[in-house]
Amino acid sequence: MEDERKKWEKLVEALEIEGIIRDSRVKEAFLKVPRYLFVEGRYRKYAHLDEPLPIPAGQTISAPHMVAIMLQLADLRPGINVLEVGTGSGWNAALIAELVKTDVYTVERIPELVEFARRNLERAGYSDRVHVIPGDGTKGFPPKAPYDRIIVTAGAPEIPKPLIEQLKPGGKLIIPVGSYHLWQDLLEVIKRPNGSIKIKNHGGVAFVPLIGEYGWKE
Ligand code: SAM
Repeated sequence: MEDERKKWEKLVEALEIEGIIRDSRVKEAFLKVPRYLFVEGRYRKYAHLDEPLPIPAGQTISAPHMVAIMLQLADLRPGINVLEVGTGSGWNAALIAELVKTDVYTVERIPELVEFARRNLERAGYSDRVHVIPGDGTKGFPPKAPYDRIIVTAGAPEIPKPLIEQLKPGGKLIIPVGSYHLWQDLLEVIKRPNGSIKIKNHGGVAFVPLIGEYGWKE
C-alpha cells in the first residue's frame, strides 16, 4: 500500500513535469483519487504506469495522461452539473466528483461494470456522490439534464444528438469521434449561448467503442 502510494505520487509528479497535468486542481484530484483503488487486485501493481489497463468485460481503464487531458479540457468547476458516459471502473467519475464537489451522473452499458464501478466507488468513499446509471449513454441521461459538461470516455462514430440536446447553452462536450478501433479525434464540442455549435479538434486518441443507439451497433 505504502509502495503503491509512493509510485502513484511519482507518476503524478512526472505528468506535471511533462506538462500534461497543468491544472493544480486536477493534480490535487489525482493525488486524492489514486488509480490503484479502481483496478482488480492483480493489476494494482501496474496502476502507476501511464497506460490503459484491463478492467472486467474486456474494457479498459484509461491511461492517466488521457484522463488528465480530458479533465483539463472539460474545465470543471465546483457546483457544475456533469454527465459522464462510460463509467468503466468509476475512476474518472470519482475524479470528476473531486473537481465539482457535488453529485455526478455516469452511465455504463455493461451490467458487470456497473457493479464493478459501484464496488470501487464504495471502497474509495464516493458512492454517495457518484451515481452509476445502467444503460445506453448515447441517449444521455434526461432526468438530470441539462448538463454544463458531458465527458464521453468511449469512441463514437459521430457526435450523438441527444448529448448535444442535453448540454446547457455555454456548456461543452468532450468526446472521441472516429473509427471503431484504434483511432479517433478528441473533440471539444462547445454549445454557444445562442445554441450554435463550435468544434475544436484536439488530435488523435484511442478508445474502446461507444456502443448504442447513437453510437456503434453491437
Ligand atoms: N471512464 C472509465 C474509467 O474511469 O474507468 C473508462 C471507460 S472505458 C475506456 C469505456 C467504457 O464505456 C466501457 O466501460 C464501456 O462499457 C462503456 N460504454 C461503451 N458504450 C457505452 C454506452 N453506449 N453507454 C454507456 N457506456 C458505454
